[in-house]
Amino acid sequence: MSDQDSGHHDSEHFETLAIHAGQPADAGTGSVVTPIYQVSTYKQDGVGGLRGGYEYSRSANPTRTALERNLAALEGGRRGLAFASGLAAEDCLLRTMLAPGDHVVIPNDAYGGTFRLFAKVVERWGVDWSVADTSDPQAVRDALRPETKLIWVETPSNPLLGISDITALAGVARQAGVRLVVDNTFASPYLQQPLALGADVVVHSTTKYMGGHSDVVGGALVTADEALGEELAYHQNAMGAVAGPFDAWLVSRGIKTLAVRMDRHCANADRIARMLVAHPRVTQVYYPGLPEHAGHEVAAKQMKAFGGMVSFQVEGGEEAAVAVCDRARLFTLGESLGGVESLIEHPGRMTHASVAGSALEVPADLVRLSVGIEAVDDLLADLKQALR
Ligand SMILES: *Cc1c(COP(=O)(O)O)cnc(C)c1O
Repeated sequence: MSDQDSGHHDSEHFETLAIHAGQPADAGTGSVVTPIYQVSTYKQDGVGGLRGGYEYSRSANPTRTALERNLAALEGGRRGLAFASGLAAEDCLLRTMLAPGDHVVIPNDAYGGTFRLFAKVVERWGVDWSVADTSDPQAVRDALRPETKLIWVETPSNPLLGISDITALAGVARQAGVRLVVDNTFASPYLQQPLALGADVVVHSTTKYMGGHSDVVGGALVTADEALGEELAYHQNAMGAVAGPFDAWLVSRGIKTLAVRMDRHCANADRIARMLVAHPRVTQVYYPGLPEHAGHEVAAKQMKAFGGMVSFQVEGGEEAAVAVCDRARLFTLGESLGGVESLIEHPGRMTHASVAGSALEVPADLVRLSVGIEAVDDLLADLKQALR
């Protein structure tokens, strides 16, 4: 097999890896795109005579392997694993790394579903958790206990776009002998590479920017630690929440254009954040690209650009925020994020309803935007009419 056919590339440029890493031309046909191997089992050449190691698609499937190798390359890790959803990936990670009696530090503005996984599911299995402001490394250090095994971080966070210093938190984790997990969903590996900054595991909801077209639900784990990667892969197979072949194919397809999409998401979000700052009905704008954002300097240090998510508070409270969401026409009212189309939502009643009454509660007058890649003038005009 030529180097080109193996999907191995010497380039370390992200844009090249995104298209080629782990994505060899198909051995049988030369198909330039890895086919959708919609298959459960594989003919063996004699008992135990596997072709390419494939025996059953929960354990491994060539379409998923292509994605998993690509994910590992993009995050600069050794092992990538693809799951049926972001939460399935998180569940696998937590059940691999934790046991009853262990403790985890989680952020005070975690994704609602991640918080629910800790508070309603994992806690019942004897794992304790506490909440810390992860933008303050000292607060995280103070939250550590002898039983702490993991520090969980999302940066930028959801929905308040808080920024945590990955390098500093990796230092806190290393000193305490605990592991640092970074949910890199909001940034994507194009903008931020947590493993290079000292994180042990990267988590993704590939549903978002990686897939990028609002047509698939998926998740991923990537680690640079060979032994941990093996353990996670063992649990992935043992627990079974793998990405199906078509879903894996869609995520791979999305990733090929991640760099160009992200460039446009970032440019559009920057324009929109600046318009909102100047808008008389907007009381607060959350976007790490704004110089006045509390995490701007750290974001500038650890991110290539500032991402496509913008949140803001409006004058007039909860009803006013809901009304802005209802009046938007080009921005589609909906949950999720990271697709080519712009979305608008009210976190308090939608994505973050499950954290109401907890330390993670979000402001009632908050509106969250997932800024798409449409013409920015159309997006600006729509928001202005929604805010009128
Ligand atoms: C969506 C999301 C998740 C969960 O992923 P699913 O694919 O919906 O299971 C986790 N973390 C973040 C930051 C998310 O936005």
